Amino acid sequence: MKKVLIIGAGGVGGVVVAKCAQLSNVFSEIVLASRTESKCIAIAKQVKQNYGVTVETAQVDADNVPELVELIHKVQPFMVINVALPYQDLTIMDACLETGVHYLDTANYEPKDEAKFEYSWQWAYQDRFRDAGLMALLGSGFDPGATSVFTAYAAKHYFDEIQYLDIIDVNGGDHGYPFATNFNPEINIREVTAECRHWENGEFVTTPAMSKSQSFTCPDNVGTYNIYRMYHEELESLAKNFPSLKKAQFWMSFGDAYLKHLEVLGNVGMIGIEPVEFNGQQIIPIQFLKKLLPDPSTLGPRTKGEICIGCLVKGIKDGQKKSVFVYTVKDHQDCYKEVQSQAISYSTGVPCMVGAKMMIEGHWLKAGVWNLEELNPDPFIKDLDKYGMPVRVIEQDGWGDLEV
Ligand code: NDP
Repeated sequence: MKKVLIIGAGGVGGVVVAKCAQLSNVFSEIVLASRTESKCIAIAKQVKQNYGVTVETAQVDADNVPELVELIHKVQPFMVINVALPYQDLTIMDACLETGVHYLDTANYEPKDEAKFEYSWQWAYQDRFRDAGLMALLGSGFDPGATSVFTAYAAKHYFDEIQYLDIIDVNGGDHGYPFATNFNPEINIREVTAECRHWENGEFVTTPAMSKSQSFTCPDNVGTYNIYRMYHEELESLAKNFPSLKKAQFWMSFGDAYLKHLEVLGNVGMIGIEPVEFNGQQIIPIQFLKKLLPDPSTLGPRTKGEICIGCLVKGIKDGQKKSVFVYTVKDHQDCYKEVQSQAISYSTGVPCMVGAKMMIEGHWLKAGVWNLEELNPDPFIKDLDKYGMPVRVIEQDGWGDLEV
């Protein structure tokens, strides 16, 4: 049983706190800190009402290492669970090193002034964490996170060699707004509008954003959706950790209305990250847009439908070609009933809690900086299934017809 400090009181933070509170035999004490303490207090109140668990709260600016160090010294947690924004990854890692506590996050570092995300910044902490005997677990959400574990699970149990990987993220949910994002709008839009990169024959190949799409029929009657190829951070670590991969791609579903809005917002300059002077004030267009859009943590009651996220892995077993789809399906309203959140925050929060549980229980605890696919997938899959994200596997001979 360990005490955890959770930083970030947004859509994902709310789910992580709720899931940790459901397991008080693992997470003995929970402290929730964020920039706006009133949001922490609201989450703590809800958790007290639902589970009778007391969550302590605090205010912190996670861009400020001395402030973080002071808070961590005061709280004395076993680990920090970072569900603030990718901008804060390095400052929180620095503070963990200074105070000697373990670290976990759900998204890789991204500098505020450049729409670029990659692991190099965080992988550079490898020696410092290893030498300090501390662990940093990177990307323990759904994608990255569960998708990294699904790939490792398929490779371990179903193949001698994996060669092709298609990560498919379908959101069949509808929130009824003409345009809204399911997680932090700034991070979401920066990710979706970035140039596409996929792994092919030993290198990353760059293509224009959203320039390749196809139709995908999800299992379990979730439906047929247009999926678009885009860059996603787990491709970087999976290509490194599974060198037998000849091709690795990431696909996400988008509705026509979402894409049309994004195109128009882009054309008029509303998703820019450079400051613009307006009435004597410096305004960053994408941050102003975030202010206007619905808060993702309020989408829960309105979102109906299901998500289907999985890894289609193709490779060789006993000299024969085979394919395996490891996936999960989750209903938005079921998530809302359980933790008052839509399925995107839910499906990030559950693997986040499970990753922390793996560290606390010692299944995964080892010094250094790790991506999830580098660790034993079995206990994680078991817990993902047990704590709200059912894991299913479809196995078939041959390589099927989804393009590789
Ligand atoms: P939100 O914007 O809803 O929440 C972010 C929270 O972090 C807010 O409470 C915000 O405070 C707080 N925060 C921001 N800056 C600071 C700071 N400097 N100091 C302290 N707190 C700060 O985001 P989400 O909950 O949707 O996403 C959280 C994280 O999860 C993001 O990193 C996102 O990329 C990641 N994610 C990962 C996924 C995966 O599958 N791996 C999927 C979805 C999200 P305030 O309320 O004051 O703004």
